[in-house]
Amino acid sequence: MSPDNAPLVIVGAGHAGGRAALTLREEGYCGRLVLIGDELHPPYERPPLSKGLLQGTVELAGCSLCDSARLTELGIEYLAGNPVKSLDPAQHRLQLADGRWLDYGRLLLATGGRARRLPHVPEHWANVLYLRTHDEALALRAVLRPGTRLVVVGGGFIGLEVAATARALGCSVTLLEAGSRLAGRVLPQRLSDALLALHRSHGVDVRLNVAIETVQGSLQAEAVQLVDGQVLPCDLVVVGIGMLPNTELAAAAGLEVGQGIRVDAQLRTSAPDVFAAGDVCEFRLQPEGGFQRQETWRNAETQGRHAALNLLGGELPFEVIPGFWSDQYDWSLQTVGVIFTTEPAASRIFPDGGFLLFYLDSEQRLLGACGWGPGNSVARDIKLCERLIAHPGPLSACALADASVALKQLLRS
Ligand code: FAD
Repeated sequence: MSPDNAPLVIVGAGHAGGRAALTLREEGYCGRLVLIGDELHPPYERPPLSKGLLQGTVELAGCSLCDSARLTELGIEYLAGNPVKSLDPAQHRLQLADGRWLDYGRLLLATGGRARRLPHVPEHWANVLYLRTHDEALALRAVLRPGTRLVVVGGGFIGLEVAATARALGCSVTLLEAGSRLAGRVLPQRLSDALLALHRSHGVDVRLNVAIETVQGSLQAEAVQLVDGQVLPCDLVVVGIGMLPNTELAAAAGLEVGQGIRVDAQLRTSAPDVFAAGDVCEFRLQPEGGFQRQETWRNAETQGRHAALNLLGGELPFEVIPGFWSDQYDWSLQTVGVIFTTEPAASRIFPDGGFLLFYLDSEQRLLGACGWGPGNSVARDIKLCERLIAHPGPLSACALADASVALKQLLRS
């Protein structure tokens, strides 16, 4: 067992880990607090990596949760570039890459994930890039030049956002998606169609239902060959085919791991005094529901905060109305609650081409909504939908579909 005065330790200095550390201090915890990261930067948010930071309108400081000076001021011991190599829950201790052992009183695992690699591509090919970290975003930014022939592999959010940014920077972009529609794993058909139309209107050569035979090249990628025999010459390949949660540390220590590190309602793992949060965390949103992981800003933010409260001895069950957004060109997609890939119960169409889709349960209560529109035009409605989800009551599908009925009015009734 660890000594009584052993520190609170957070492994993973990304969004969830960084938010947890800051929350612990905000909540008045003044004991020893150690934050361990394998990147060199202070904790930062990742959404700008595929948007402003890639385009050059935002720098690291604009994504950081706090800078090094603030960590020092708060007395947060930040061990950067020193990943945890092993965990010994029975002894309440862990070992760092530099060989040092560290005791902990309570521990938070917020190790996030890494980009899934494209098989059979040599790791040393410098023009096949992935996007998960700030440094990877800078490496990509350096080579997105007017006229660069870019092939994006993957029609999920990262691939689509990279494609949009690359077009804004003057690259010629071909986007390859294995499925029959864009972001089809998470979005309804109507949104996939809207994304497809938007990207095509901006000159992206989107190919659906395609499979890659091989990436040709000797010292670097020179062309992508498709299974149907087509060869797409390229200067650069960006791969956005999902992420793999960093569960290995937990699994090797004997913690229960499914698709992520499994936690109970309080975000406690199967090991005593060890919690998990963020992309790596597999949790149940409802006690009777199945386990799920969420790879979103909102999840990292809320679980990071929540885990901090429970590290301090709280017994609060984690509850959140999920949601995410994606910005592409000058359009934005926002979701709240539980959305499905199937047809919605009601849709509200706006004159600017934007729309809201609503998902209802069997008692006509709002389960989730997604909005699509120019700029931030759907943000207000999505916030109102969040309130409708939080205060459930039966809703009329006709009223939801009628753009002349203010959502605020439905909230009041
Ligand atoms: P991370 O932020 O990945 O942090 C985990 C940290 O732990 C990393 O620094 C990792 O290196 C470190 N680590 C791993 N193993 C160890 C170890 N053994 N020892 C020490 N440290 C370790 N979400 C949205 O809702 N909207 C968006 O528009 C959006 N855009 C995104 C764009 C990009 C390019 C990316 C990559 C993600 C985006 N997301 C978006 C998702 C969101 O950013 C993530 O869900 C969030 O960053 C997850 O936070 P996390 O703390 O769980 O993981």
